[in-house]
Amino acid sequence: MNRKLRVGILGATGMVGQRFIQLLENHPQFEINALAASDRSQGKRFEEACTWRLDGEMPAFVRSMIVAAPEPPLDCDLIFSSLPGDIARDSESAFARAGFPVISNSSAFRMDPDVPLLIPEVNSEHLALLEVQKNNGAGQKGYIVTNPNCSTIMLALALAPLHARFGVKSVVATTMQALSGAGYPGVPSLAISDNVLPFIDGEEEKIEQETLKILGKFQGAVIEAAPVAVSAQCHRVNVSDGHMAAVRVKLDKTAGIDDVKDALASFTALPQELQLYSAPQNPIIVRDEPDRPQSRLDRDAGNGMSVTIGRIFPDNVLDYRFVALSHNTIRGAAGAAILNAELLIAMGKL
Ligand code: NAP
Repeated sequence: MNRKLRVGILGATGMVGQRFIQLLENHPQFEINALAASDRSQGKRFEEACTWRLDGEMPAFVRSMIVAAPEPPLDCDLIFSSLPGDIARDSESAFARAGFPVISNSSAFRMDPDVPLLIPEVNSEHLALLEVQKNNGAGQKGYIVTNPNCSTIMLALALAPLHARFGVKSVVATTMQALSGAGYPGVPSLAISDNVLPFIDGEEEKIEQETLKILGKFQGAVIEAAPVAVSAQCHRVNVSDGHMAAVRVKLDKTAGIDDVKDALASFTALPQELQLYSAPQNPIIVRDEPDRPQSRLDRDAGNGMSVTIGRIFPDNVLDYRFVALSHNTIRGAAGAAILNAELLIAMGKL
């Protein structure tokens, strides 16, 4: 590619927006050319509108950029969106109608039948939906590609190699989700100190529905949902970054524990083959220590793009159990969207 694609970020001042800026700072294929947020921030220099919440300093190149409204046109070639779900629907569809490719993190379009819910290692063939979306779009010149919910990405990545090799019949997932997953300021400190909250609005439904679409098959013009029973219970815990899930699976075929471990540890897919810039060498890292994965120790594995899985054992109720962990604002959000865009470039769609 001769020149970098110019990117606009919607929701640029938020937890995910800041992660986009951090991950794109030295990216070889993208450069940030527009930042948008709410009317609280619009018209201000980014350094006035945004309190930087990530490690290190706010990158110098965004400091003086003026925050725009999340409305087309913006001076860029594609949009990364991290708007709240309720705002995203109107804004993202306006950009797609105006001709922009929209690579979204938000929940607004994830379950629309003609919108790819993409994890490049798992379901790159779902990008064929873009043709369906174009035909349905009544003149829509751009398109929308979404990434799944932050816990769903981790779960679907863990299930994909098992589903491919043995078939997954049912899965029970119990999540322990980090504070940054709720955005900033998120959960009040007095609600989460010395506490675990057994409720994250809409999260269980998202995991249960999105997983079936991601593992589903593209059949001509639609995704046929995977015939897997998924049960999720979600908890907010007092951890800054890194979602964890205790997972139990029932498999279609009998599998030995070494085969299960091998399926997970040896899993690679198209992004690794194409050597996409953000693709981790190992999408799944299997650890054998009895006390791993841990949020603080494992969330940055593979630059935050690998899922770490440990505690793999036969289960007395279903077939196997394990614990998975991944970085919710990298593999679960901004990094996921950037990897989606890298795949779109590699497939000639950007
Ligand atoms: P956040 O920290 O609350 O940031 C929200 C962003 O949206 C800010 O830039 C905010 O701008 C902007 N915004 C809020 N209301 C707006 C409005 N009415 N019009 C235009 N812009 C508005 O949230 P977040 O954690 O970054 O999450 C952003 C999206 O990503 C959500 O859809 C979330 O579900 C999804 N997501 C988050 C995670 C995660 O781990 N955090 C993971 C996966 C997906 P101002 O600063 O101007 O208010």
